[in-house]
Amino acid sequence: MRRKLDLRTGRPVWSAYRAPSVPTERLTRDVKADVAVIGMGISGAMIAEALTAEGHSVMCLDRRGPMLGSTAATTALVQFEIDQPLSKLCPMIGRTRAERAWRRSRLAIENLAARIGELGIECGLDRRISLYLAGNVLGPGDLAKETDARRQAGIQAFHFPPGELAGRFGIERRGAILSHGNLTLDPRKLTAGLLLKAKERGARFFAPVEATEVTGGKEQVVVETKEGPTVTAAYAVLATGYELMESVPAASHQIISTWAIATRRQRRKIWPEEAFVWEASDPYLYMRATADGRVICGGEDQEFSDEEKRDALLKAKSARLSRKLARLFPALDATPEFAWAGSFGTTTTGLPYVGALPRHPRIHAVMGYGGNGITYSQIASELIASALRGRDDRDADLYAFNR
Ligand SMILES: Cc1cc2nc3c(=O)[nH]c(=O)nc-3n(C[C@H](O)[C@H](O)[C@H](O)COP(=O)(O)OP(=O)(O)OC[C@H]3O[C@@H](n4cnc5c(N)ncnc54)[C@H](O)[C@@H]3O)c2cc1C
Repeated sequence: MRRKLDLRTGRPVWSAYRAPSVPTERLTRDVKADVAVIGMGISGAMIAEALTAEGHSVMCLDRRGPMLGSTAATTALVQFEIDQPLSKLCPMIGRTRAERAWRRSRLAIENLAARIGELGIECGLDRRISLYLAGNVLGPGDLAKETDARRQAGIQAFHFPPGELAGRFGIERRGAILSHGNLTLDPRKLTAGLLLKAKERGARFFAPVEATEVTGGKEQVVVETKEGPTVTAAYAVLATGYELMESVPAASHQIISTWAIATRRQRRKIWPEEAFVWEASDPYLYMRATADGRVICGGEDQEFSDEEKRDALLKAKSARLSRKLARLFPALDATPEFAWAGSFGTTTTGLPYVGALPRHPRIHAVMGYGGNGITYSQIASELIASALRGRDDRDADLYAFNR
C-alpha cells in the first residue's frame, strides 16, 4: 500500500469548465479548531460543509490545494448502484447487511441531491436513468437474479431483455438492468460550492500544507505539518483520498489504475435519454454525457503497480476505450479530445472504511471508495457528522474499521 501517490495524469475533461476558485491561506502559526479536516477533495468538502452546518469550527488542510487530487479526475457518475452487485455482496457479508449497504447508498444519493438543491450549488446537477449491461461478470441470467435481489431489498430495478434494449436505446447487448435516480454533476463545481459554503460559516482553508502526523490524546488531537505549525482540535478527520496517512490501517485496501476519455461536443448524436451506461464486465466499461454533449467513457481498470506504468498506458488505453465506445454507439464520433488516468483505492467487498480509527476515538478516517467514491463520500459525511455529535448511525457498523 503506497501512502503518497501521483494521483492522476493527462487532461481531465473538467479542465474545460470553470469552477469557482476557493481561496486558501498559508499556515504560518499554530491554530486551533473543533475539527481539523485533512484533504480538500470532494470528501473533505462534504465533511467540512456537514460539520460547519452543525456549528463546529473547522480547519481544512491540503498538501496540494482544493480539488487537485482524484476529485479533478473523476468521471462523476454519482450512483446508488455500487460496483459490487447486491447478489454478489450477499454471500460476502450476509443478506441483511448487503441490503442495508445498498439501501444506504440509495438514501445517500437522495440526501446529496436534496442538499445541493437546498444550498443552491450550481454544479449541473441532474437525474439520469442508468443501464447496467450484461457482460462477462454478470450474464443475462445473473442480471435477472440481480434485479430480483434489488427488488427484494426495496430498490426499484427493471430487467430489459435484448429486444427492448435495442428498441428503446439502440444498444445491441444481451440485456440490462434499468434504474432511476442516479445523479450527473460537475464534481469540481460541487466541491468548490461545498467548500465555499463551509467558508461562509467560518471554516478556514490552509494549503499547501502537508499533515505529517496526527496524534490523538484523551482530550484533543494534534496534527503536525511539514511546514512546522500544528493544528490542535477536538477531532481530526482524515479525508486524504487514496493516499493514506501512517496511522490508517491499510490491510484489505488495494489501489486500482483507471483511464478515461472525453469526446468533442455532439449533443444530437447522444443516445436516448443520456442514460448512464455501464457494463458488468472485467475490464470495466462505463459512459455518460456532459451537460454540453461530450461523451465521457472510462474503465479498463487494472491493478496499480506504479505511476509511470499507468501513465505510459494512457495512449493505448484511450484508444481501446474509444474503440469500445464506437462499437456500442456507431453514430458517435468517439475520437478522444481529452484523455486521462487516475488511481483509486478499493476493498475486498467494495465497501469503504469510514469511522474512528481503532483505539483512536478522536481520529476519524474515510478510505477505500472504489468507483463509487462520491456516493461513499456523502455517506462518510453523514456518519462523521453523527459521530462527532455523539449520535448513533444505524449503518455505522457496515463501514467501521473493526467490522
Ligand atoms: C478516472 C476516475 C474515475 C472515477 N469515476 C468515478 C465515478 O464515476 N463515480 C464516483 O462516485 N467516483 C468515481 N471515482 C472516484 C472518485 O473520484 C473519488 O472517490 C473521489 O474523487 C475521492 O475524493 P477524495 O476527496 O476522497 O480524494 P481526493 O480528491 O484525492 O482528495 C484528497 C486530498 O487529500 C490531500 N492529501 C493527501 N494526503 C495529505 C496529507 N498528508 N496532508 C494534506 N493533504 C493531503 C490530497 O492532496 C488531495 O487533495 C473515479 C476516480 C477516478 C480516478
